[in-house]
Amino acid sequence: MRTLITGGAGFIGSHLCERFLAEGHEVIAVDNLITGDLANLDHLRVNPKFRFIGHDISNPLKVREKLDNVLHFASPASPVDYLEHPIPTLKVGSLGTHNTLGLAKAHGARYLLASTSEVYGDPLEHPQKESYWGNVNPVGVRGVYDEAKRFAESITMAYHRVHGVNTHIIRIFNTYGERMRLNDGRVLPNFMYQALMGESITVYGKGDQTRSFQYVSDLVEGIWRLLPTDHHDPVNLGNPAEITILEFAEEIKKLAGSKSEIVFKPLPQDDPKVRQPDIARARQLLGWEPKVGRDEGLKRTMDFFRRKLGK
Ligand code: NAD
Ligand code: UDP
Repeated sequence: MRTLITGGAGFIGSHLCERFLAEGHEVIAVDNLITGDLANLDHLRVNPKFRFIGHDISNPLKVREKLDNVLHFASPASPVDYLEHPIPTLKVGSLGTHNTLGLAKAHGARYLLASTSEVYGDPLEHPQKESYWGNVNPVGVRGVYDEAKRFAESITMAYHRVHGVNTHIIRIFNTYGERMRLNDGRVLPNFMYQALMGESITVYGKGDQTRSFQYVSDLVEGIWRLLPTDHHDPVNLGNPAEITILEFAEEIKKLAGSKSEIVFKPLPQDDPKVRQPDIARARQLLGWEPKVGRDEGLKRTMDFFRRKLGK
């Protein structure tokens, strides 16, 4: 089996490359390093079954070797990153998805799209089931990411219906773990950095908004189980354990043994008030559920950041 993974030098992409290589696949990682880091792949580049292609997937790509699977994970994913790169984000969600679907079609390969809980926007239904159509502001600042992913889902279903491509769509909820970028602006790296460095922990708004955090190995397991199926409708992959952002700040501060004070900053525009996956579909279809709780996952991730910061 040969698997091409776009966004392979990113946080999730690098874990996927690692898992597919461990399962005996040949892996081709494609990345333009806009938010990724080749260092995430250092430990894999010595493996003869691994190849890296530096390429912006918003431009078409031809691959000589026969591909069995195409996994499209390329996209800025942190709100700070996609606000900094709005047009590349729109392009990789639209043109990049079109190009990777074309690649899968040309090779007769299975296809998997990394979509997101952001397709539900600021949800009016809670928890979020796959049947919910969402509440997205198309012209707000987050629209560049949300609408690109919504378009990506539409074109993926069209390639399945029109061209018979064996497509899969996952809606990933907030995922964390080793190899997140310390400065990517997402809540977990921010809080861990601030707690470990003794800086103020910045809670946006009142901190009563909620998120549900999934450890990366659980996500990778869900992807591994979904890919061989013939299920084409979207599947939520996330950990339903929901927490307010203020509680999350306190949890990380305690884990770090930190004396940092918690300060409140303005809430960004269109910041979703609640987010929690309904994972009944993944449970039933894949016999999957998250195995790593926040206690264990946060500890592992903090150890990684401690090593990075020498703390
Ligand atoms: P990340 O920023 O660490 O990784 C994204 C990777 O894609 C980076 O290596 C980046 O350089 C690469 N990339 C971006 N645009 C590209 C382009 N045009 N061509 C080639 N490479 C490009 O982010 P991540 O958290 O690992 O996210 C990976 C995927 O998972 C994204 O598609 C994201 O939307 C999705 N996702 C992640 C989460 C999460 O909580 N981490 C939640 C929902 C969805
Ligand atoms: N957040 C925060 N402080 C930070 C960074 C983020 O309070 O330093 C909040 C943010 O407003 C949001 C939640 O944490 O409500 C999760 O933000 P993140 O950027 O990780 O991703 P999102 O889930 O919004 O896509």
